[in-house]
Amino acid sequence: MTRLPERIHRLEELAHDLWWSWNQDARNVFRRLDYPLWRLTAHNPVRMLKLVSAETLERAVADAPWLANYDRALARLDGARAAHNTWCKAQCPELDGRSIAYFSAEFALHQSIPIYAGGLGVLAGDHCKEASDLGVPLIGVGFMYPQGYFHQNISSDGWQEEVYEKLTWTDTAIAPAVMRDGKPCVTAVPLGSRTVLVAVWRVRVGRVKLYLLDTDLEENAPWDRELSARLYGGDREMRVQQEIILGIGGVRALRALGSDPAVYHLNEGHAAFVVLQRIRDLCEQGWQYEAALEEVRRTTVFTTHTPVAAGHDAFPFHLVETHLAGAWGDLGAYRERFLALGHYDNGGGAMFNMTALAMRTAGAVNGVSQLHGEVTKRMWQPLWPGTSLERLPIKSLTNGVHVPTWMSAEIAALLEKHVGPDWMDHHDDSAYCDRVLQIPDEELWEVRQALRAFLFTFIRERARQRWTAEGVAVARVVAAGTMFDHNALTIGFARRFTGYKRPELIFSDPDRLAGILNTPGRAVQILFAGKAHPADDVGKHHLQRIYRRAIDPKFGGRIAFVDDYDLHVAHFLVQGCDVWMNNPRKPMEASGTSGMKAAINGTPHMSIGDGWWAEGFTGDNGWLIEGHADPTDHGAQDWADAQAIYALIEQQLVPTFYDRDAHGIPRRWLRVVKEAIRTVLPRFSTRRMVKEYVRQMYGPALKQPVS
Ligand SMILES: *Cc1c(COP(=O)(O)O)cnc(C)c1O
Repeated sequence: MTRLPERIHRLEELAHDLWWSWNQDARNVFRRLDYPLWRLTAHNPVRMLKLVSAETLERAVADAPWLANYDRALARLDGARAAHNTWCKAQCPELDGRSIAYFSAEFALHQSIPIYAGGLGVLAGDHCKEASDLGVPLIGVGFMYPQGYFHQNISSDGWQEEVYEKLTWTDTAIAPAVMRDGKPCVTAVPLGSRTVLVAVWRVRVGRVKLYLLDTDLEENAPWDRELSARLYGGDREMRVQQEIILGIGGVRALRALGSDPAVYHLNEGHAAFVVLQRIRDLCEQGWQYEAALEEVRRTTVFTTHTPVAAGHDAFPFHLVETHLAGAWGDLGAYRERFLALGHYDNGGGAMFNMTALAMRTAGAVNGVSQLHGEVTKRMWQPLWPGTSLERLPIKSLTNGVHVPTWMSAEIAALLEKHVGPDWMDHHDDSAYCDRVLQIPDEELWEVRQALRAFLFTFIRERARQRWTAEGVAVARVVAAGTMFDHNALTIGFARRFTGYKRPELIFSDPDRLAGILNTPGRAVQILFAGKAHPADDVGKHHLQRIYRRAIDPKFGGRIAFVDDYDLHVAHFLVQGCDVWMNNPRKPMEASGTSGMKAAINGTPHMSIGDGWWAEGFTGDNGWLIEGHADPTDHGAQDWADAQAIYALIEQQLVPTFYDRDAHGIPRRWLRVVKEAIRTVLPRFSTRRMVKEYVRQMYGPALKQPVS
């Protein structure tokens, strides 16, 4: 490693706090230090500092504007960590000195820490970042998966191959978590009749800390070392053990680190064993079981994320009993009563269901959009026999996206100039955001064109890299989007490849689609991206057929598949496409967030009225796909929705996008772009969302019961 000159010795510290990733000054510190390295490392400052040359550092020390930016970034970092005058200080003084533990099986903070698969992780990562910005004392707890989630490789026949890479610790912004005595934190978790040791890593996210559990310790048996090797890698048995480590190990790790959270937030059911350890702890302090359960319930909040039945983990009772054998302690006499809390029959026989456990032990439960809240009530009503839907303790709290993370610097600069230099402080204020309408069309169009160009440069460079370094077939170079037209209307579709998201819907009538794509002078092109779950062959077949369309001359090189969708790719896609498409089978999409990321960048959403779009569509901020058919007849619904998509593209998207004035500006199109930004920015940001969590979920949990 290059030694840092004294004047800039805090570069290392800045690189090791992910706060840098959503603060423009801090990003520019690294970006401007060595731009080729910034690109080469996919924006990873920790790696950059390992690779950067001494001459470059010396040059930086002599560069006054760069130094001024460096000083500004560090002053702001110190301010963020100190968290004086934050929203939370002013609005929720009851949180002062307390903390909220946020448990999640995945966190998507940055592409350099591959401990996420998709939307659930992005939500958790964005929640942490926003908590930092608002001064909410959150502590995240999750897993350090040394092999992470897989990288996606596409064979020359379009088949997804999964590549796992062991993380190089020294390339990432993580460090061992240390206890008060300065020793690294290692905690013991009972698993079956043995004990597994769990190491704890720490990630700094501004004022928020994230602790990550890791079983890859020499003291553990080889199979136990594998427990946290990969995200969603193993079978049922592996899974239940992982969830015991997360829930029970997580609570123990927090205790070892001296934290005593006031509220526990379970993000999805994976972490529900938290309640077991907490009830046990209280009982061992002398509480009665029922009182302990009540206390845990009062201080637990739970967010559920999917209406898809298979998305809720459920285990046969014998598996749970086997692996929890050592976890009971003083709770032994209440074993049956605890196990009954997870009892749920989904139609296929009674199982131990993690969502049921969480619902029965959380004082407040929420779904992630208005619609999903209602769907969740109907889905889980059997847990509260005799209670009407309106009286169920299930709320709707719609997801949002972290604006500084997802908005391009170029759009942010326009807002700063035309909305106000302090726009970021008010971005969840709808009236304030009305000023978006003041942005001049010319400037907005210039930025939109630039963002599309960045995307295509990114795609071309990736294809070049694959072709020259990995020697992939020429067909793959074409499929990657290298024939795309820089000025054509570009539709993006990127998400997990799975049945209910209907990735191939737009190919329902291939001839009609080919006609749309290839209209001279009014071309349309579609960019696909996304991974299929490693065990989901149906998803992989969807992907393969799309890949084959991409190399089918019939579509003129106007279909592309960008491989290895992750946070990095997502940034280019949501910012650079012209339209963001989503066509799930209603009501299976709980919320969806990629459409929000797109909209705040001026990429309007064209979607089924499912998830967040059911409440987000205003009539003029994007487009609603609405095929009229009997929803129980999937074939008919698919066909009707596909027809609706074609009609929208032909009658609205294409005419509006290609309608230019004498200066080449698409005025009508830009009206939709502005409406998308104006309406989505305030309502679908994590700023609004985290404030709601504090007021509606954490706040009530903090109140002491009147005795
Ligand atoms: C935002 C995001 C998601 C989730 O988006 P959906 O709209 O819910 O599909 C998934 N993966 C990545 C990499 C993302 O950035």
